[in-house]
Amino acid sequence: MASPLPPCTAVIYSALAIAALLLLSATAVNASQGDKEPVYQGCVTQCVRTNCTGARLRGFQSTQAPYMALTGWTCRDDCRYQCMWQTVGLYQAEGYSIPQFHGKWPFARFLCFEEPASALASLLNGLACLLMLLRYRSSVPRQSPMYYTITAFSLVSLNAWFWSTVFHTRDTYLTEKMDYFCASAVILYSIYLCCVRTLGLKRPGVSSMVGVLLILAFTSHVSYLTFVSFDYGYNMAANATIGIVNLLWWLCWCWQNRRTLPYWWKCGMVVLLLHGLALLELLDFPPLFWVLDAHAVWHLSTVPVHFLFYSFLIDDSLHLLNTEKTGVKLE
Ligand SMILES: [Zn+2]
Repeated sequence: MASPLPPCTAVIYSALAIAALLLLSATAVNASQGDKEPVYQGCVTQCVRTNCTGARLRGFQSTQAPYMALTGWTCRDDCRYQCMWQTVGLYQAEGYSIPQFHGKWPFARFLCFEEPASALASLLNGLACLLMLLRYRSSVPRQSPMYYTITAFSLVSLNAWFWSTVFHTRDTYLTEKMDYFCASAVILYSIYLCCVRTLGLKRPGVSSMVGVLLILAFTSHVSYLTFVSFDYGYNMAANATIGIVNLLWWLCWCWQNRRTLPYWWKCGMVVLLLHGLALLELLDFPPLFWVLDAHAVWHLSTVPVHFLFYSFLIDDSLHLLNTEKTGVKLE
């Protein structure tokens, strides 16, 4: 008779089954209501025809601020921006709820920043991550078994926050893809980090195999979104899937080691906070003061979590180093 699965393995398999259902039910996001409005489309066509050709276009280009030109704001983009607010004004005057445009809420632009609050929050996340990486490297000797895996994880995270800042500053075909793909890379790398810490220190072969599988998963994910269909629903479901596996895997490990690792609660808090805070995105309300939407609130809320996460990583790396020195078997 086959032996029953260990509790953690059973939980992770259940999560994978739920995740597979999520993936199957993923659907593409519909086009936004605002940009389908005839009044908006007519306004953009008229504005482009009047302002974005011949002498008017040359006038626009000669008076445009250099930072706007450098960040790729075109005459057509300005038309879209002005027409968006005209349409929003009409909706408000008629008492209708605020519509989205091209998949986004209407945001008040600040200088060249398309979504100022999310761009600032992404920058703060990146700075927190950089600060804590420097603290990690000054607190933990490089002989610690997780030193290079954690440094690499931090670099993958920093890269993602850089692209998140760029994307929220200026949404283009390229910056959107980079934001999504780099965020997926962090989520997949966090599975690798979890795998190395929980299994790979005793069985390096397992980490290598999981590493190869994750690279294959990342390549397939990016290829599908690039060459087949950029499906927002699928992307979200794929990230949620990996997130759920990651959450349960870490929580099981924390719980199993609660008696031997006094700092276990930091890890548990971080994964619960990160996944709990991600639910803020589901609120999806029109931006307060045309600046603060649910996505920006979510990005802002994760800034303090980096400090607790790296505090755990430092404690754990020092613990691993000590246990290695004293020849104690790793958890
Ligand atoms: Zn974002």
